[in-house]
Amino acid sequence: MHASNPMKPGRPIQAAIPSVDRILALSPIVAMIDEHGREAVVRAVREELGGLRALLGAPAEAALAQTATDHISARVAARLEAAATASIKPVFNLTGTILHTNLGRALLPQEAVQAIAVAATNAVNLEFDLHAGKRDDRDRHLESALMRMTGAERATVVNNNAAAVLLVLNTLAQRREVVVSRGELIEIGGEFRMPEIMKRAGCRLVEVGTTNRTHLRDYAEAIGPRTALIMKVHPSNFQVVGFTKSVAEGALSRLARERGLPLVCDLGAGALLDMRRWGLPHENTVAEMIAAGVDLVTFSGDKLLGGPQAGLIVGRSDLVNLVNRNALKRAVRLDKLRVAALEATLRLYSNPERLASRLPVLKHMIRSLSDIKAQADRILPVIAHALAGWATVTMEKCESQVGSGSLPADRLPSFALAIRPSIVRRKALVRVDALSRVFRTLSVPVVGRVNDGVFYLDLRCLDDEKRFLIQLEHLDLDARHKPT
Ligand SMILES: *Cc1c(COP(=O)(O)O)cnc(C)c1O
Repeated sequence: MHASNPMKPGRPIQAAIPSVDRILALSPIVAMIDEHGREAVVRAVREELGGLRALLGAPAEAALAQTATDHISARVAARLEAAATASIKPVFNLTGTILHTNLGRALLPQEAVQAIAVAATNAVNLEFDLHAGKRDDRDRHLESALMRMTGAERATVVNNNAAAVLLVLNTLAQRREVVVSRGELIEIGGEFRMPEIMKRAGCRLVEVGTTNRTHLRDYAEAIGPRTALIMKVHPSNFQVVGFTKSVAEGALSRLARERGLPLVCDLGAGALLDMRRWGLPHENTVAEMIAAGVDLVTFSGDKLLGGPQAGLIVGRSDLVNLVNRNALKRAVRLDKLRVAALEATLRLYSNPERLASRLPVLKHMIRSLSDIKAQADRILPVIAHALAGWATVTMEKCESQVGSGSLPADRLPSFALAIRPSIVRRKALVRVDALSRVFRTLSVPVVGRVNDGVFYLDLRCLDDEKRFLIQLEHLDLDARHKPT
């Protein structure tokens, strides 16, 4: 790095840095003011010139070049462009987790996307009865479909399932006790811990049984005069295996009924239809819970249901009425965009035969192994060519997961491209991280999974193969990343 010119700069650089006003008068900068506004441009120029002061210790020749006005104006343009591009952008989810919470969970069906666009750009009858000409409830757009699909007497919808659980507990059990099995005191991640939610809802948690075994009599013995309800939580992201015992909803519901208590079930993923229909492992459906006698079921809209983020509450009409009268409901209600998207998503369920071709979540779940393999066969040579001399690429069997606590123990066989840095030395791990970083800097960032020094791209969720392949030409394998 310019070792031949180790001269210390100091003053000449400081003198060479142009003033803010001089830069603002440059004609390309004037054009930028037109596009981005004066305030943003002045800020970018100040930042850029401020950055130049850091060059005071750098070799003079290189530093002086950076003070040239056209260089500065190009850098200001780049700053403004970066500030103007959206922070939220599409990525390729090749992590092998279909419902990836950090990548936004369920991809919406086209029908839901259209419904969002209509609701976003029009006044809509969100809370207005067009027949009677008066105020109405926004749940009306969703309730009958949910009742039909789950067998519940009533339904309501809130911001997400965490809000649904909070609202139900706060409504039915404030200042009272909630009986839960120790084996179900889950943490979903991101601070959603059942004991914490209970505290926030104002309830006292009464834990029964042990981590691996809870019997009906454990529940029975824990019920007292302050008990408000019995809660069952679907163990979403783990499975207790071995010497285990939990009490099924049916038996629990008989006990609850005998003692005059409601049984609430936080189902989490919330399948509306039996997944075995598509050859997938069984996941408790909401309808099965209602049929087993659960009084209220809560579940997410953006997990197995495949819709927008939402928390659904279905069950006994007197209990849903109480939930609706809780002042907290207003704080966690759904906006019109998601009401529209959820309604459109639910409508697709009325034709289960076509659901798999319309609901992206389901489509990804049932994508055939041979289809994924054929895609891997097509992509492998292109990626291998782009990474030639840098990494080797092979095709490997792998296992995708549904994610977000759905079907936690079940894995879906899939194929991945396994990318290994060509020269594995001491810093192999650093290099594989650099490799995965390069993929994340593509115009549509590619997010894979690093495991044991190998960068895996699980192709199960790769829809837009063409776009993926085209941008491989832009993989920037500069010397910094290349193993030496
Ligand atoms: C995912 C999950 C939640 C949280 O749902 P969000 O929709 O993410 O708020 C709560 N309980 C269970 C059992 C879950 O699986």
